[in-house]
Amino acid sequence: MDLQQTITGFDVWHLALPVVSARDHGIGRVEGVCEILVLRLAAEGGAQGFGEASPWSVFTGTPEASHAALDRYLRPIVLGRRVGDRAAIMTEATRALAHCTEAKAALESALLDLAGHITGQPVWSLLGGKCRDSIPLSCSIANPDFNADIELMHRLREDKVGLIKLKTGFKDHAFDIMRLERIAQDFPEFRVRVDYNQGLEIEQAVQQVLDVARFRPDFIEQPVRAHHFDMMARLRDLTDVPLLADESVFGPEDMVRAAREGICDGVSVKIMKSGGLTRGQTVARIAAANGLTAYGGDMFEAGLAHLAGTHMIAATPEITLGCEFYQASYFLKEDILETPFPVRDGQVVVPDGPGLGARPDVDKLNHYAVRRSP
Ligand SMILES: [Mg+2]
Repeated sequence: MDLQQTITGFDVWHLALPVVSARDHGIGRVEGVCEILVLRLAAEGGAQGFGEASPWSVFTGTPEASHAALDRYLRPIVLGRRVGDRAAIMTEATRALAHCTEAKAALESALLDLAGHITGQPVWSLLGGKCRDSIPLSCSIANPDFNADIELMHRLREDKVGLIKLKTGFKDHAFDIMRLERIAQDFPEFRVRVDYNQGLEIEQAVQQVLDVARFRPDFIEQPVRAHHFDMMARLRDLTDVPLLADESVFGPEDMVRAAREGICDGVSVKIMKSGGLTRGQTVARIAAANGLTAYGGDMFEAGLAHLAGTHMIAATPEITLGCEFYQASYFLKEDILETPFPVRDGQVVVPDGPGLGARPDVDKLNHYAVRRSP
């Protein structure tokens, strides 16, 4: 297949998806609904490709900005181009507008899904080939009602999920320590990670991180603000529990600086931060080249974005710490895919079908849409 087909369709849905519970993170809360955007590309001959943008206003950006990025700024770069010109299109997208990394991730996902459907190849094949068939799933413990999270952990245990990430720094230190003690006592089989989502003030950070390190989590993620590189480096030196950077590292450029300044032992790689799957791979490779580990993080996503992340991790051996694609199974009242996001025995199963391996249900997109363009 030469991928000479012209891209002729560009549809955008802005969705509000109901969620089952509130989630508290250091930098903010999500409750009620989770807002995402879905892009559908169509090519001559009828092939289609889908991509998702999963913004969060306090972290990457707003859904309104993602909508404008796709509908107004990226649409003219894409329509009329050949499916095979993916690298050129993504380079122009990067230059056409600053930030809006979630919209760029949606665009690259849709271009890859489209090319995969035309050629019959899975997206992981288009990204360099597969290094794993499954990815350990981590589920976040982030409910302000800890009793509800205890119920969730019982369900995770039944589902054979072995990794949990405790979200800390949104209430107080005593609440964090109480939950760590309770998990250690009642759920000793879970491997625990801790994520502050920037929730600590500089004055508290040293003592609280040292207290949490006594529980020996796999890693402690982003305790302080994204721009506090010096404090991240200092905290990293204080404990032998690995420190992960998330909000401090969006794309490859941040990763170079993070490695140079020694702020972390590893990085959370997210296609919504890096601005696409190939840039996510680059972040992981820069980390690995500097002796650092990488984790497959995500935003508040639906199954379509989980699929894109799954293919990216499947083709990126440097991402070794599992993934957190739990929202489609444990957070959304209803996911948007036609078939359930594939999780079995606590592992995300890498799809082998063409493109992303599953599609959104267009009836659901129309049902949950707050706006649609054109
Ligand atoms: Mg994080």
